[in-house]
Amino acid sequence: MKRRSGLIVLALVVVGGAVLVCACVAVFGALYFLLPRSSPTVISTNPVATGAPVATLAPVATVPVVPQTVDAACAQRLDSDVLTSESESAGEGTGNDQTLVTYQVRGDSLSSPDFTQVASDLTGFQQDLTDQKKIWDLFTAIIPADQRSEVTSFEIFTDGKGGDLGSVLQSDDPRDWILQMDIQDSGNFTDTSTTLVHEFGHLLTLNDSQITTDIPVFNNPDSQSIFEQEAASCPDYFTFEGCTHSDSYLNRFVQRFWSPILAEWQTFQWETNQDQLDQDTYDFYNKYSDQFVSEYAATSPEEDIAESWMFFIFGPKPADTSIANEKVLFFYDFPELVSLRAQILGPLCVASQQP
Ligand SMILES: [Zn+2]
Repeated sequence: MKRRSGLIVLALVVVGGAVLVCACVAVFGALYFLLPRSSPTVISTNPVATGAPVATLAPVATVPVVPQTVDAACAQRLDSDVLTSESESAGEGTGNDQTLVTYQVRGDSLSSPDFTQVASDLTGFQQDLTDQKKIWDLFTAIIPADQRSEVTSFEIFTDGKGGDLGSVLQSDDPRDWILQMDIQDSGNFTDTSTTLVHEFGHLLTLNDSQITTDIPVFNNPDSQSIFEQEAASCPDYFTFEGCTHSDSYLNRFVQRFWSPILAEWQTFQWETNQDQLDQDTYDFYNKYSDQFVSEYAATSPEEDIAESWMFFIFGPKPADTSIANEKVLFFYDFPELVSLRAQILGPLCVASQQP
């Protein structure tokens, strides 16, 4: 569930009083998450390094008390400032994710930092505990505690500017999740907040209250035959995390929006040549670009719902009913998510005003 930088822009444009969501780089020029290539949805079971407790980084940021209703002016500013601003994370990255530090999560606090041995040019990022803490504090400030209890590790990594921006993945225990953030792509509020909200979209839609973990696939993430065998016994959408529950957000989203295109997308999901996979994904996006809020959304249903979630949080309620907009409107059908949006937007607004 990596979030990558990308090449296409989604601009929210007010035309004749109607808010249109359009992918329109050439016309509007608002550069947004550039995505030159896709990344497959793969469970990684990278071992989380543990070490003797070294220190505990207690939260220093005071979580602001925020109203449960959305401040319209601030929401509009977030929309115009964040969703349409140029990302500083554009780029390809090095193609090589380097883990720098892994923290254990205890509520809002980070503890037991485990420092990976890295090349000397990365030690500055590795020792930048202040900026690492800042990313974590933003996450805990904007996501309510009861919505992130499955996050048990926080990892700082980098693959240079651009490339992978962040990701979430299951831990050795599939009920537990690791939040990973690229410190080189977390240098400003816009990039950090959008990536955190996107990653939280995965946690919201892939946690074990939504999906029954498939242990054979979890233990054999590279096996197409095991995946297909397990998928055959799932009556609903089957993802690498397992069989989605019928009433889960992801299954409803897939049934509603992906039914006509899912089989076509599945034809190239096991492509082992990365360049070919990138090309196939790019062609797929181009063919159905009017259905997606961003190019990256076309990577998979899982990325599509996470990107649409991000636009649901940051953007205004769409006025027209293009398929891309319907995907944003999808979340408005769930009162608990409308309430959660307000809970996230409040501290997001506060954080966006801080230096
Ligand atoms: Zn993602």
